[in-house]
Amino acid sequence: MWNPRSNFQFTEEEYNLAKSRDKLPIKCIVCGRVSLVRKAKITAVMSGKLPESAQYCSRKCAAPANTYKKERIVVTCSYCGRKFSTFPCRARGRRRQKHWFCCNDCRLQASRELIQEYNDSRSTK
Ligand SMILES: [Zn+2]
Ligand SMILES: [Zn+2]
Repeated sequence: MWNPRSNFQFTEEEYNLAKSRDKLPIKCIVCGRVSLVRKAKITAVMSGKLPESAQYCSRKCAAPANTYKKERIVVTCSYCGRKFSTFPCRARGRRRQKHWFCCNDCRLQASRELIQEYNDSRSTK
């Protein structure tokens, strides 16, 4: 059954000559690096048993969706001014939030000061 993917780097002849334990070259669809995959796996891919296999050189490339989600963005702590990174999924949920805190201490300290400010402004009235 010859049903190659566009990233396969071998011919039908090479495939037929290879033993099931032999490795055949495929091109990573993410980074373009060539890596070797067992013929048995290639066969499973072509038959549709493992449609997600033999496409990537590594697990890192195999999970582009995950790595995208894990990509961090850099924000500045509203309390101490320290720059720190956070996950954009969190950022998205708090898009309206203007303040970022690097740690719980900063968050607590900032809210304490806000409460203090609020109380002060009320008492000075
Ligand atoms: Zn890759
Ligand atoms: Zn901070």
